Amino acid sequence: MSNIIEIKNVTYNYTEDDIEYTAVDDVSLNIEKGSFTVILGHNGSGKSTLAKMMNGLNKPTSGEILVDGMSTANEETELLIKRKVGMVFQNPDNQLVASIVEEDVAFGPENLGLEPKVIRERVDEALKSVGMYEFKDSTPHHLSGGQKQRIAIAGMIAMKLECLILDEPTAMLDPKGRAEIVNTVLRLNKENGMTVVLITHYMEEAENADRVLVMNDGKFIADGTPKEIFKNVALLKSVGLDVPQTTELLYELNNNGIKVPTDVLSIEETAKVIGAFLEEK
Ligand code: ADP
Ligand code: MG
Repeated sequence: MSNIIEIKNVTYNYTEDDIEYTAVDDVSLNIEKGSFTVILGHNGSGKSTLAKMMNGLNKPTSGEILVDGMSTANEETELLIKRKVGMVFQNPDNQLVASIVEEDVAFGPENLGLEPKVIRERVDEALKSVGMYEFKDSTPHHLSGGQKQRIAIAGMIAMKLECLILDEPTAMLDPKGRAEIVNTVLRLNKENGMTVVLITHYMEEAENADRVLVMNDGKFIADGTPKEIFKNVALLKSVGLDVPQTTELLYELNNNGIKVPTDVLSIEETAKVIGAFLEEK
């Protein structure tokens, strides 16, 4: 499989009052086309700084980022890169530009200079794929946070971006809104083959990823499948992440001599492994 994004020994320093601060510290990572990657990390670990480099919003202090083989440092390909990789941010209110939902989704395709008919088709298709078609004539202000984020995502779909980077898109949403976004993103990945990089500090959102990376202090400290990552409870807690309660329960049972498997993600699986343990007794 080929890579849509290649991050090669990238460092990012902020300079404030003449003091340099390293937010991303010599990070390397390849994002495969069509994959679903989750980056977990507590506040201040460098996730947003890294995310903004993935489509060229931030340029690395050192190292290199390639998007489909094009360096983000090259101004000539800046626009091409922005048409491949899009970003969704935390605050749903800062991302919508128009006063009607369908106009908002049309904004990107209009900037691409497409024919009105093509724009119309793309907007309808994009709104359907995020389950927001019935709201096409609504005012974004009247929508919930989760609905607004889905409109922002529809805007990316309508531009036919290949890769979506979502930087804590659920942080300001209630559990229902969070589930809407996670399910939408998962469907886009599985059904439309969109490459997804989801940045979050909610571990449950990593359940369906192909690959999970944990970031701390500007570096990746773990990289694996959700199951491999989740069973490492001590490590996750040591970097300030909240472990799902089911995972912690299995971990604590093991600490107390009850040897149940710990590489389990859902409530249903947890019930099964505890049930199996009790039957053996
Ligand atoms: P995260 O998204 O994981 O919370 P950030 O990438 O936002 O982390 O921040 C990483 C580190 O860089 C933090 O210590 C933060 O204070 C610092 N930082 C972020 N943005 C700036 C900025 N504009 N100027 C100076 N320091 C910054
Ligand atoms: Mg952030």
